[in-house]
Amino acid sequence: MAVVAVIGAQWGGEGKGKIIDELAMRTDFVVRYQGGGNVGHRVVHEKGEFVFRLVPSGILYPNTTCIIGNGVVVDPKGLIDEMEKLQRQDIDISRLYISERAHVVMPYHFLLDRLEEEARGTDNVESSQRGIGPAYVDKHARTGIRMADLLDVDTFRAKLSTILQQKNRMITQIYGQPPLSLEEIHSEYYGYGLQLRSHIADTQKMLHDALSDHKTILLEGARGALLDIDFGTYPFVTSSSTLAGNAAVGAGLPPRSIDRVIGVYKAYTTRVGSGPMPTGLFDTWGQTMRDRGHEYRTNTGRERRCGWFDAVAGRFVAQLNGLDVAVITKLDVLDTFPTIKICTAYNLHGQTIRSLPATLSDLAACQPVYEEVKGWQRSTTGINHYEDLPEEAKTYIKRLEGLLETPIVMVSVSPERGKTIQLQDVLVSVA
Ligand code: GDP
Ligand code: MG
Repeated sequence: MAVVAVIGAQWGGEGKGKIIDELAMRTDFVVRYQGGGNVGHRVVHEKGEFVFRLVPSGILYPNTTCIIGNGVVVDPKGLIDEMEKLQRQDIDISRLYISERAHVVMPYHFLLDRLEEEARGTDNVESSQRGIGPAYVDKHARTGIRMADLLDVDTFRAKLSTILQQKNRMITQIYGQPPLSLEEIHSEYYGYGLQLRSHIADTQKMLHDALSDHKTILLEGARGALLDIDFGTYPFVTSSSTLAGNAAVGAGLPPRSIDRVIGVYKAYTTRVGSGPMPTGLFDTWGQTMRDRGHEYRTNTGRERRCGWFDAVAGRFVAQLNGLDVAVITKLDVLDTFPTIKICTAYNLHGQTIRSLPATLSDLAACQPVYEEVKGWQRSTTGINHYEDLPEEAKTYIKRLEGLLETPIVMVSVSPERGKTIQLQDVLVSVA
């Protein structure tokens, strides 16, 4: 009986998919509230390995209803592919619903994403080029197409016709590319609407009813808090708000319905692509983290930069989200390390600071101040109970807990389902 938001507390890839999967077994609804198909949540399961892009990870449980909320931007073709793939893996997708208010990623969004990124040259923001940014731009420019629009042939044509004229001016006159065809897009996307019709729903109403019935609802964040459009390392951020504050809006729930906010942190730090990362390592320890943690992006295979746990950024994220509790994943990746460092402060132009500077240049100039703890140099992967963890591992976790000022309630020690140490039941103990 609770509404619980699970957010990524670093730069993404924290293992949210695995944690959601662990919790979803006892959850009635799992809702994605932002982002698009530019993410990849990997879940390892007895039926095989699953990578979720738009479909909430809860779909693996037969009793969980999954919702793609109004705050998400949906590429219908990508979604249909993902649904068909799940069906081939024997997963029932009849419990998947998409908000009729969710915006559609259109072909011109994909095209403009690529053309704009090329035009930025070396100043590019490393867009995943799946049209997500341009789709959010149109949402805010009030020229977006929403899922409900795909269901009405004439309204869709009228809207698309107006929007496409403007897009084609941009495509031909600014970028010198051939225009897109109204007829082709209209028939293709109306076709997607027909295919998805039984899944497009008033999800706000569904969730409101679920609240009245005291159901358990998980709100699933995509990417991480340090990629938030407002508070992330701008402009190397994602195009939506990844924070708990947006979870209610993006799902269609009242803010005070959220009982608990859980932040998922890796036991170290990773980041894809550019943008400063104060604790990034370029030595063999960074390489060891990458190898042991398989730190290549689920989505693109791009390698993630690795480094020590950054408790300055971590505490900033805990504060921004009002984290009630935290989860530490991938503790096992550190199993072989003789010593482990934790960044407790930054040194910026001779001053010690304990908060995240707003500008990229300041963040890039930050030198991490480290504290060192002893490694445990033993495998943690088979451990089920917190008491059985090596003392050094417990000391490390307790130190992180102190620095984050947030209780740590789960520790994950393997990608596999079930290999998660629970210190507290995060679903039950909420009133
Ligand atoms: P997400 O986007 O936050 O869900 O994370 P990703 O799925 O993109 O990346 C996390 C990766 O770490 C995935 O390959 C997971 O299978 C893996 N993973 C999750 N938890 C653990 C863990 O405790 N230990 C190890 N070794 N791998 C984990
Ligand atoms: Mg991911």
